[in-house]
Amino acid sequence: MPAPGPAGNIARVTIIDAHVHLYPSEANKSPIAWAEARREALWAALCTRKRKDGTPVQGFPSMSELLRDMNAAGIRKAVLLGWYWQHHTTCVEHNNFYASCLKAYPGRFAAFASVHPAAGPAALDEVKRARDLGFSGLGELSPHSQAVPLDDPIWRKILTLAGELKMPVNLHVTDPDSKAYVGRVDTPLNDFLLLAQDFPATNFILAHWGGGLAWAKRALALPNLWFDTAASPLLYGPEVWKKAAPGRVLFGSDYPLALYPKLSARADFTGILREAEAAGAEPAMFADNASQLLGLQ
Ligand SMILES: [Zn+2]
Repeated sequence: MPAPGPAGNIARVTIIDAHVHLYPSEANKSPIAWAEARREALWAALCTRKRKDGTPVQGFPSMSELLRDMNAAGIRKAVLLGWYWQHHTTCVEHNNFYASCLKAYPGRFAAFASVHPAAGPAALDEVKRARDLGFSGLGELSPHSQAVPLDDPIWRKILTLAGELKMPVNLHVTDPDSKAYVGRVDTPLNDFLLLAQDFPATNFILAHWGGGLAWAKRALALPNLWFDTAASPLLYGPEVWKKAAPGRVLFGSDYPLALYPKLSARADFTGILREAEAAGAEPAMFADNASQLLGLQ
């Protein structure tokens, strides 16, 4: 029986969503209190934002709600991305939660680990622990949001280790031309080009179409730069699906962000898939690129 979901080209492939966030049940129950107890003010500012009409920018679904939404849209596998936490202890807690998700549904989830260079050697140990637990990569990290200088020696060791362990690193990118929002952090685009040049053995996935780098010649000249499509409907028009080199793009939704807030306050995968398909996006973006880059079955 074919998977339910949008009709057409994309429905016939096994879809992998390479940019999904999920949180432990204590965080879901009371995100603000959970974040306060962990001094994660930046995450709280971004994830508990409300729009002008008072609706929250995102929900806090449980693992079973995520699986239900995946099934409804024909998503075979979700890559659970960590967060650019401000503290090592939160990274470890989130990684432990994702390890339990991988154990519960190995066929449906892959996971990327969170890490903070300020932990020193413990951050490097956390990368190795994540690899041993079956994690596929690191991210979504953001040195700019985590207040880590790009020349921080531990940050650089983490990136070298990620290359050695074949763990791609997903980095949050803000388009310099995007409008202001609460919690917005500037991420100079040139920084990502420098990182890719300095760490040629490490693959980087630049989130949110790399803030426009996905269609910039100077970025596409670097073979270790990849891009995901997270939050695309909130950031760009549907023309972007045909703008980037299709061999470098991984489909990602940024679930549980509500991507079409005027239509629904609830996150789901179907709208963005319909948009991509109507725009004529290449099927490879929806599974093959991710399974090759991440070594997924
Ligand atoms: Zn992001």
